[in-house]
Amino acid sequence: MVVKDVYERPLRNLRISVTDRCNLRCGYCMPEEDYVWLPREQILDFEEISTLAEVFMDLGVDKIRLTGGEPLLRRGLPELARLLAGKPRLRDLALTTNGVLLREQAPALRAAGLHRVTVSLDTLRPERFSALTRRASHAQVLEGIAALAPAGFTGTKLDTVVMRGVNDDELADLIEYGRTVPAEVRFIEYMDVGGATRWSIDKVVSRAEMLQILERRYGRIEPVVEESTAPADRYTLADGGVFGIIASTTEPFCASCDRSRLTADGVFYLCLYAQKGVDLRGPLRRGASRDELHALIAGAWGRRADRGAEERLRLRDRTPLVQIGRLREDPHLEMHTRGG
Ligand code: SAM
Ligand code: SF4
Ligand code: SF4
Repeated sequence: MVVKDVYERPLRNLRISVTDRCNLRCGYCMPEEDYVWLPREQILDFEEISTLAEVFMDLGVDKIRLTGGEPLLRRGLPELARLLAGKPRLRDLALTTNGVLLREQAPALRAAGLHRVTVSLDTLRPERFSALTRRASHAQVLEGIAALAPAGFTGTKLDTVVMRGVNDDELADLIEYGRTVPAEVRFIEYMDVGGATRWSIDKVVSRAEMLQILERRYGRIEPVVEESTAPADRYTLADGGVFGIIASTTEPFCASCDRSRLTADGVFYLCLYAQKGVDLRGPLRRGASRDELHALIAGAWGRRADRGAEERLRLRDRTPLVQIGRLREDPHLEMHTRGG
């Protein structure tokens, strides 16, 4: 059974945040000094995550991405990967990580059956990395990326949030670095999601500008024609190189969005920009049956009319989505809680 929302969008993709904690402080995600963390006793254990994953699969989910916060901070993550990878209906099990702890964990994650890894990498310059993330962990991230191929991972991706005046001079360098990994680089437009309290439109480098910058270096760039609901549009360089752009801010892809999110404490969100979610932890811990959980999730998805990024696009005088005061009152509005 595949549930559809009011715009006939199926539920196929689930991003599971396994922790709201992080060992970096990226300026576009966690710019503050301190945060309100989710209470430990409310964090789902692996059995609970596995049970909910099954329920989601009954309703059409066949792709899961583990994320956070920083997912590699969650103790025993390979065990969760093993539980999920063992589910025959799951076609794709991926992980998004900042890479700091990847070198140590890559072999165990691969052995557990994790299919693919995406590492967030915004710069190749150590001092710039330290300024961007407020932690001096650049060398560890590069070591983590280098550990992926020897551990047996293929299909690696590198995600770069592009910001004007910050790292927009490194696009070609990142593509060249990606070839050596090997990994496909995807450039993400800076988004005004919860947590991005320092966002402003003048810092957004649009897809059109990124393509102009890259054409100056590489010559003609051709779009790859493919049927996909993936957020990245892919492009080929004249020399055969491929990269992606996720134009989430200037050309959002809500019309085909099949993605949803589960926070580490079991709240289900239908859209990255949604202000409210559906609590699944409460019913699960009270012993709700599989049918009851189906009804909760399918009912919420059936009413889904979210097109968050498109609605933001229509605003004039756009400012950050949520101000710091409200983020402190409700940490579920934070990107690092919701799971990027
Ligand atoms: N900590 C892990 C990492 O950084 O890969 C996983 C969680 S992080 C929230 C997931 C992704 O969200 C990262 O690639 C990050 O760059 C992206 N992200 C966070 N804030 C963003 C923003 N304001 N605009 C665009 N992407 C953002
Ligand atoms: Fe950076 Fe990811 Fe941590 Fe956010 S959750 S601060 S994007 S490493
Ligand atoms: Fe999907 Fe919401 Fe993002 Fe649009 S804004 S692509 S509906 S998650």
